[in-house]
Amino acid sequence: MISFYPGPSQLYPGVERFMNEAFQGGILSQNHRSPAFVEMNKQTLTLLKEKLLIPEDYKVFYASSATECWEIIAQSLISKKSLHIYNGAFGEKWHDYTRNLGFEADNVQFERNEAPELIKADNDVDLVCLTHNETSNGTRLPEGYIKQVADINNSALVAVDATSSMAGEYLDFSQADVWFASVQKCFGLPAGLAVLICSPKAINKAYQLNVRRHYNGLVFMDEMLAKWQTTYTPNVLGIFLLGKVMEEVRGIQQVSENIVQRRQSLEEAFNNLKQISLFVQKPELRSNTVICLHAGKSLITAVKRNALKSNLLLGNGYGRLSESTFRIANFPAIDDQGYLKLIEFLKTY
Ligand SMILES: *Cc1c(COP(=O)(O)O)cnc(C)c1O
Repeated sequence: MISFYPGPSQLYPGVERFMNEAFQGGILSQNHRSPAFVEMNKQTLTLLKEKLLIPEDYKVFYASSATECWEIIAQSLISKKSLHIYNGAFGEKWHDYTRNLGFEADNVQFERNEAPELIKADNDVDLVCLTHNETSNGTRLPEGYIKQVADINNSALVAVDATSSMAGEYLDFSQADVWFASVQKCFGLPAGLAVLICSPKAINKAYQLNVRRHYNGLVFMDEMLAKWQTTYTPNVLGIFLLGKVMEEVRGIQQVSENIVQRRQSLEEAFNNLKQISLFVQKPELRSNTVICLHAGKSLITAVKRNALKSNLLLGNGYGRLSESTFRIANFPAIDDQGYLKLIEFLKTY
């Protein structure tokens, strides 16, 4: 079975071997304060920074999920209020979670088929929240938008949810202060781990606010990271697998080139279908890593069912779009052969 689900997604083929290695090597029962863990963690974080081109002075932390990152960011980095700019379900959830924690949070929603406007936040906004790749509808922020938002909101921090694009497409981390992703999407790893990347400006802000109420608060996390440790017993297997996959993959620029090319050939193939169309109209707003396809409700049901018979698992539509769309992950863990099978299968529709 090949899974085209955009998360939890198809695993990198090496994961089975790496899991065995973790088991045999005894790392899974090592104490998380032990030199063996510290060494493994240091290696993982160093490789991650190298392969994804994360700036030297940015720090990388772990959390258990992207959802937890939303909470950590709100609790550690908002002093007055946040602004959320989004066009889909995940951006909306981030806004909801922040408000549910008791923070004041403004929001600006934009249309799926329109580029977002450049927004200068109110003076009391100290955190601007963007979703780089909206997994629910297959859109992405237009090229250059994150930097423009950061430039005109220079006194605020900019945080970016890159859950379904990080490790698949090249991201210029220097353009924003906080980036995060859980690993069950584009990293091709099992769920239960997320990475949270912070600029020096974000770390400074955390120390300035000095919130120490939460086990996963950035100040406490940073203090532990100084010793290559975590604030709680972490997902050691997840961290080990992340390190192994990072060791094996090519640099992000090469990975990214392949993903963008493959997106183009997939879109060409999908454009030729009679009963199925690309959901997002403007190519510059389409995600590179999650392709959202539109069709009639009964056709979608049939396509998904028949795909399963050919050992292809297609991704359901998300939330309000669950009956009118289905989704195809364009993630690096799936090889080109898999996509040829998919195109062959869809050809008759
Ligand atoms: C999947 C996803 C999330 C939620 O991830 P969890 O790891 O389940 O918390 C958040 N944001 C985006 C953009 C996602 O695709």
